[in-house]
Amino acid sequence: MTRIAVIGGGITGLATAHALAARGASVTLFEARRLGAMASTWTLGGVRQSGRDPAELPLARAAIERWSRLDEALGAPTGYRREGNMRLARTEAEIEVIRAMVAAQRERGLSLEFLENSADIRAIAPAIGDAVLAASFCPGDGHADPDMTIAAYADGLRRMGVTIMEGAPVHRLTTAKGRVTGLETPAGAFVADAVVLAAGIHAPALLAPLGIGLPMVAKRVCVLRTVATAPAFEQVFGVANADCAGRQEIGGAFRITTGIGDWPGDPTRWSEDALRPPLDTVADLIQRTAPLLPVLAGLGLERCWGGLIDLTPDALPVLDSPPEWPGLVIGAGFSGHGFGIGPVSGEILASLALREATPFALEPFRLARFAQLSGQAPLTLHG
Ligand SMILES: Cc1cc2nc3c(=O)[nH]c(=O)nc-3n(C[C@H](O)[C@H](O)[C@H](O)COP(=O)(O)OP(=O)(O)OC[C@H]3O[C@@H](n4cnc5c(N)ncnc54)[C@H](O)[C@@H]3O)c2cc1C
Repeated sequence: MTRIAVIGGGITGLATAHALAARGASVTLFEARRLGAMASTWTLGGVRQSGRDPAELPLARAAIERWSRLDEALGAPTGYRREGNMRLARTEAEIEVIRAMVAAQRERGLSLEFLENSADIRAIAPAIGDAVLAASFCPGDGHADPDMTIAAYADGLRRMGVTIMEGAPVHRLTTAKGRVTGLETPAGAFVADAVVLAAGIHAPALLAPLGIGLPMVAKRVCVLRTVATAPAFEQVFGVANADCAGRQEIGGAFRITTGIGDWPGDPTRWSEDALRPPLDTVADLIQRTAPLLPVLAGLGLERCWGGLIDLTPDALPVLDSPPEWPGLVIGAGFSGHGFGIGPVSGEILASLALREATPFALEPFRLARFAQLSGQAPLTLHG
């Protein structure tokens, strides 16, 4: 039986382990902290096709179909809801940005509406405030509950016989005769036919000793969660310039995020305390979002946290098995939008690990593309 090691217990690693186990591989997953310790629960949890880079669109489309069957496949609820995504315009200039975005995405075959006045917007989402002048609406988009999703994958994997090692930091990848042969944790060495690296912002540090450069910068997004309130808003909202986004969780709390900001620290040495947003960031976010969803203004604040984004130069992930290191598969650099496509990223990484064909075009996700790239793509929308 093919023996595969997966590093990282976020959605990418868990979905990879699931796809591998479903194809009969023997899978051991190594997680340094606990499952969902980083981006996959820091996240907003949006599952969207709208606003995607064209290269990512086939993955995002396939992901919508996977999410709709995921509860059944895992035997546990993920909280997935397909209620749509709205991108809101607050100024005349933003109306034109949204109008152009709708036209461009319709050309790519996406079903997207342009809502040009308050009445049309409120017919879909009555909670949206007067400050919103126009909006896009992609009914096929949605959201899932990050904590429930991680727990559902964990349940499904344990039932399938996957070994999950938490508190098991991988210190290095082992190599012999020009190939990756396994990994080392403080508990000892593990030998595998292939190793899938899905360690998020920590991936470059494990690749560096192999001479592999994975260009990635860490950015911070701050998140606040209100206390629970009655159901008021079903969609995910974002705004034309991506400086905030949000949704109402299944339990009634609102989860609201800032735009993507700089993070001056060493990404491999983050701590929850160091990431926590300063008060002025929280105040600014409340001030910006309350006019969009007036219900927010009266709610108590339950918690706030900061999360790191693993941003690559073109804001696309690496989904690749670099030819110079047989036995190694990399899934990292999701640049703020890896939750929604997680189930499909997992399938692709599993195919690479088993050296099976995948129906997806992987050229845009090869590691080698960075050799030709210069500069930094504009920061993309999350949500
Ligand atoms: C605030 C915020 C909002 C977001 N909103 C959205 C959204 O709405 N929609 C969307 O699609 N995406 C969104 N994203 C992005 C999305 O959450 C991530 O792209 C996705 O969760 C990445 O999953 P991952 O499994 O690749 O990485 P992670 O979830 O970061 O998992 C990596 C795991 O690897 C473990 N690890 C690291 N190093 C080691 C090691 N040496 N040994 C063992 N384990 C290790 C870590 O502990 C961690 O658990 C958002 C991100 C943030 C921060």
